[in-house]
Amino acid sequence: MKILVINAGSSSLKYQLFEMPEGKVLAKGLCECIGIEGGTVTHKRPGQDDYKVKTPLDDHEAALAWVLKLLTDTELGVIADISEIGAVGHRIAHGGEKLRASCLIDDEVITYLESIVPINPLHGPPAIAGMRGCRKLMENVPMVGVFDTSFHSTMPEKAYIYPIPYELYEEKSIRRYGFHGTSHRYVSGRAAEMLGKKPEELKIITCHLGNGSSITAVNGGKVVDTTMGFTPQEGILMGTRSGSVDPTIVTYLQSQGMTAAEVEKMLNKQSGLLGVSGKSSDARVVCDAAAEGDKRSQLALEILYYGIKKYIGAYTAAMNGLDVLVFTAGIGENDRDLRRRVCQDMDYLGIAMDEEVNATCPRGKDADVSAADSRVKILVIPTDEEYMIALDTARLAAD
Ligand code: ADP
Repeated sequence: MKILVINAGSSSLKYQLFEMPEGKVLAKGLCECIGIEGGTVTHKRPGQDDYKVKTPLDDHEAALAWVLKLLTDTELGVIADISEIGAVGHRIAHGGEKLRASCLIDDEVITYLESIVPINPLHGPPAIAGMRGCRKLMENVPMVGVFDTSFHSTMPEKAYIYPIPYELYEEKSIRRYGFHGTSHRYVSGRAAEMLGKKPEELKIITCHLGNGSSITAVNGGKVVDTTMGFTPQEGILMGTRSGSVDPTIVTYLQSQGMTAAEVEKMLNKQSGLLGVSGKSSDARVVCDAAAEGDKRSQLALEILYYGIKKYIGAYTAAMNGLDVLVFTAGIGENDRDLRRRVCQDMDYLGIAMDEEVNATCPRGKDADVSAADSRVKILVIPTDEEYMIALDTARLAAD
């Protein structure tokens, strides 16, 4: 069965067409600058040159129409007709309190997603536009929603309730939701597979470190805690996001004349690696500047390493032990120095890295970088959220 995976952002739409159950990617691509000037579609097929076209993309439906046109094009396409697509899987950032597992999308699901736009203002509307676009252009094709929050829905109350008036949870749904769940689910499952164990037998900490970063404690296959919270703003320092800060900084700055929108922008877009280093939100640029002696870049990285270490300690305590530590996403998969620095001086937790293997393991492949005598396995696992979405979509569409 062919599965189209759609990831709709505010001004972009990424797609991948999978052949399932093989998991083979037939084509993938990206529509950029939707609803703004500079619309571009990039279409890729394995072993062939990329195709790129500049074209106005008025909305997500127009972008999707381009995707379907390219997929079925006689020269650039990989299928003869849209009817070959068995189902569409949508990546949806937020499933709220109700959507705790991947599900078929019907009117009721869309209505619920609309009702939670206030707590998901950035990602909700484009995801809904993507679903509506698909409905229109591929009328009878089943659609499945896969939610970034759902893997975290097993967290106990003590981990997801904030110590603020309980009514705010009851009346305004303010709680920890957690994000990147599809990635944490994939890499924790893959870790168990690599070790020839069942997820139920393992205590795992997964570090998803990219532009946005989150760390999750998975005990026996179930999430017990995660660093992102009500929004993806909480947790460790990220590319442009601060991660957790004293909330009074917000009200203090507002009392000093900044508006709520300005503070939000500062914490979301001007903080993190960018804010501390003053150089870039891109970890590679900050690493290069640090290597050349730039003090603030060095400090930004130190804050990041220290933050990750603290959560590893906290989550090991939360689970009363640790069997596996996983690094994934752009930084986790590629930045060998970060992995080395995070795992340094962690022997009290049984974490010992084989620094030689860590420094030489090929990028883009699963790797075990733990020392032979390490009590905890340290794994590097390239994440694959799209494959996970295709897997859920194929399963639910076949039911
Ligand atoms: P997103 O959260 O947008 O999916 P990614 O998972 O692609 O992000 O991660 C992007 C981050 O990964 C960037 O900060 C980038 O600098 C970093 N990265 C990619 N390759 C390397 C590398 N070789 N060394 C250090 N950081 C890297």
